[in-house]
Amino acid sequence: MVTALYPGSFDPVTVGHVDIASRAAIQFEKLVVAVYDTPSKNLLFTTDEREQLMKDACSHISNVEVVRFSGLVVRFAKDIGAGAIVRGLRSGSDFEYEFDMAFMNRKLEPEVDLVCFMTSQDYMFVSASLLKEVARLGGDIKDMVPPNVAEAVYSKFGLPVRDG
Ligand code: ADP
Repeated sequence: MVTALYPGSFDPVTVGHVDIASRAAIQFEKLVVAVYDTPSKNLLFTTDEREQLMKDACSHISNVEVVRFSGLVVRFAKDIGAGAIVRGLRSGSDFEYEFDMAFMNRKLEPEVDLVCFMTSQDYMFVSASLLKEVARLGGDIKDMVPPNVAEAVYSKFGLPVRDG
C-alpha cells in the first residue's frame, strides 16, 4: 500500500479539490494533502488560512493529513515516503500542464509516479481562480466551495455572506 501526496495552492479549497481528495483517499492507504507555501501566483489567502480551510474541509476523511510545504513537489514526496503524486484533471489544458510537469518530475525523481483523477462531472467548471472573481463581484459561490470557505472568501472582499 502506498502513501500519496496531493499538492496544490488550494487558494481556497473547492468542492472539486475535496472530491479528488476523497476519491484518492479510497485508493491509497494514506493521502497527504500539501498546501504549497510559495506558488508563483497571486494569492487571496495566507498559507495558514489555506491550510486551516483545507483541514476543516477534509476533517471527515480519516486517512487524510493536511500539511504545508515549500520547494520541489517531488522532493517533498520523497521526504515523506509518498510513492505517488495525485492531481485532478478538468480539461485538456490541465492535461497538457500535468503531462509536461510529469516528465520534468520523473527526470528529477524517477521513483515518484503521477496519478491523475478525472474530475466529477458536477465539478468540472469549478475553479479556485474563477470563483474568487465571481465572489469579488458579488456572485454566489456557495455550490463551489465547502460551507466554511464561502464565508472566508466573501469576508476577504469585505462583502456580507450571501444566504441564498
Ligand atoms: P495548482 O496546484 O496548479 O496551483 P490548484 O491548487 O487550483 O492548482 O489545484 C490543485 C489540483 O487540483 C490540480 O491538480 C488541479 O488540476 C486540481 N483541481 C482543481 N480544481 C479541480 C476540480 N474542479 N476538479 C478536479 N480537479 C481539480
